[in-house]
Parts: sequence; C-alpha cells; structure tokens
Amino acid sequence: MSKINIYDLEPKELTGMLSGPSFRATQVLNWIYKKNITDFKEMSNLPKDYREALEERFFAGALTLLRKEVSLDGSEKYLFGLPDGKTVETVLLKMKEDEYDDDGKKTREARYTVCISSQVGCKVGCAFCLTAKGGFERNLTVGEIVEQVAFIKKDKEFGEEKSINIVFMGMGEPLDNMENVVKAIKIITHKDALCIAPRRITISTSGLATKIEKLANLNLGVNLAISLHAVDDVLREKLMPINRAYNIKSVIDAVRGFKADKRKKVLFEYLLLGGVNDDIASAKKLAKLLSGLDAKVNLILFNPYEDSEFKRPTTEAAEAFRGYMASKKFICTIRESKGIDISAACGQLKQRDKDGR
Ligand code: SF4
Repeated sequence: MSKINIYDLEPKELTGMLSGPSFRATQVLNWIYKKNITDFKEMSNLPKDYREALEERFFAGALTLLRKEVSLDGSEKYLFGLPDGKTVETVLLKMKEDEYDDDGKKTREARYTVCISSQVGCKVGCAFCLTAKGGFERNLTVGEIVEQVAFIKKDKEFGEEKSINIVFMGMGEPLDNMENVVKAIKIITHKDALCIAPRRITISTSGLATKIEKLANLNLGVNLAISLHAVDDVLREKLMPINRAYNIKSVIDAVRGFKADKRKKVLFEYLLLGGVNDDIASAKKLAKLLSGLDAKVNLILFNPYEDSEFKRPTTEAAEAFRGYMASKKFICTIRESKGIDISAACGQLKQRDKDGR
C-alpha cells in the first residue's frame, strides 16, 4: 500500500484515518504546520508506537528544493523537484520592508506574498509566457500546492502569527485544476493547518468564465484577479488563445456575478506590452469595458526574456495609461517588476535549469 502525503489531506480527513483519541490529528498537524516538523520520529508528544504506525502509513512532503535565486529587491525564486522528476516554481515577493522608529525599534514587519503554481506547464498558451512554451505536463496534487506555502514558511522561519499573502499566479491556470486548488485552499485556510485568512488569498485566472461562475458559488471568500491584457477580442485572441473559448464579454459577465470580499475589489491584470497595448486608445477602451464594476486595475510592465517577441513599455507610456485610468476613478497601480534580476518571467527559472544555466 503506497503511503499517503499528509499535505494532501484536509484535517477532517486525517482525523477520520487515525486511530486513538481525536486530538491526535490536531497534534500531528500542529507539528507539521505550526512547528514545521515533518519527521514523525521528532513528534515527541506522541507515543513511540503511534509514531511508528504513522510512519508506516503516511509521509509529509514531496517537494525537493533544486535551486533558489535571491534578487537584490528581496524576491526569492524557488525551483522544486517533484517525485516524478518534473519541476515547478514558487516565488516569494517582498512587498514591503521592515519599518523601524527613531530608536531603531521595529514597528512593522516586512510584508510578503507567495506566488504559487497550480500545474506543471499550462494549456492556456499565452503568447508572452515562457511556461506556455513548454506545454502542459500535469496538474499539481493538493499536497504539492499546499507544501509550496509550508516550505517557504519553514525556509524563511516565518512564525505562526506571520501573515502572508498568497496568489495563484505561478505556473499553470488554477481554474483548470480547480478541484485540487479548492481543496488546497481549504487546507491553507484551516485553523489547524496553515491558518491563512481567505481574504489574503487571490486566484488569478486567464478568464475561464464558466469556472469563475463555479468558484463564485463556492463562496470561499478568496479574491479574484483576471488576466485581461487586451481590450478587443482580436488582440486578446492573439495574446491569449483561451479567448476563442471565453471572449472578453463572457469573462466580464462572469466577473459581474462574483461576489468578492466586501472590502476588496476584483483585480484586473493588464500586461503592458511596448507598442502593442500600451496606448491611450487602449486605456479608453479598458475604462469603458470595466465601467460599473467594482474593479481595480494592475498594470504590469512586461519583463522581456531571451528571444521574446514583445518588449517592455516605456515608463512614459505606462504613466500615461495609469493616469487615464485614474482620471476615470479606477484604482490603478503599476506593478513594480519584482526580481527582474533573477529570472522573473514566469517559467524562466525552470527553463534556465533545463538549459543548465
Ligand atoms: S500566463 Fe498563466 S495562464 Fe497564460 S500560459 Fe502562462 S501560466 Fe498559463
């Protein structure tokens, strides 16, 4: 009988599988998620024979760290090996530095966002994406998704109380692996597991309209980000072939039905590609398209990679675009390129590892 990865299990499932008193599952989860101990032998408050029985049936953790790159801006990119020899990336983004008062006392902790992957490769095939070039290999399991967060918390020695944000914006389309992503979110948010509030989690999708509707009905309390990237179907189809199945109107209609956390707005990601979609005419169309939606717009400056057919927009073009959106009362930010010196384009570290660089 093959062993079960505990990261694959919701707490209630583990409880149902364990013998003895019901608090045993909580004890095991406490070691794994709160104390970052995954070796059953070290779980000292469990009887020795109980630890041996656990070892026979379970294991905790399937990821192997193959490579890590640290950027000058504090971003860190992890390349993980999976049990079948495939690889996947996770990125830790430092969003804000520690803050200190005049006496040198820390007044606020640095803020981090973990960008996690949901698939090895991706079927969506966006023209600007390096992950897409490698095609689709497989969905990540629930445990492989959950462990990306647990691994980084352990690696960075983030305590239980440290609040981090999570975005499903790494490799893969999360709504194309919806069942595993939803279960992973239930584990990530559970008080006995990673205990991260749903409002700190964002699912970023290329716009699978029917799945957005399903996600809305699950009422998970997570946030939604839509990768729009274009304001007319012809260009969007060129950039994102998924637009043939779900055009812009169907995506916007699905978003209108999504009830985000009351304090949050639906986020639209718009990748500015130099000379392609960064002009004021596009900004005007975008503002019209989103009118009436409680939306926030994130402009992302394209990060060119070797041989990419697109270029980075100029700062002036990006500022003018943002200024127009702001004049139409949208909260519109230009996302800083994090980790530009460390293979920041999605899929780039994996590619460099393959090439032996
Ligand atoms: S950008 Fe995201 S959805 Fe598009 S191909 Fe890349 S991983 Fe898939």
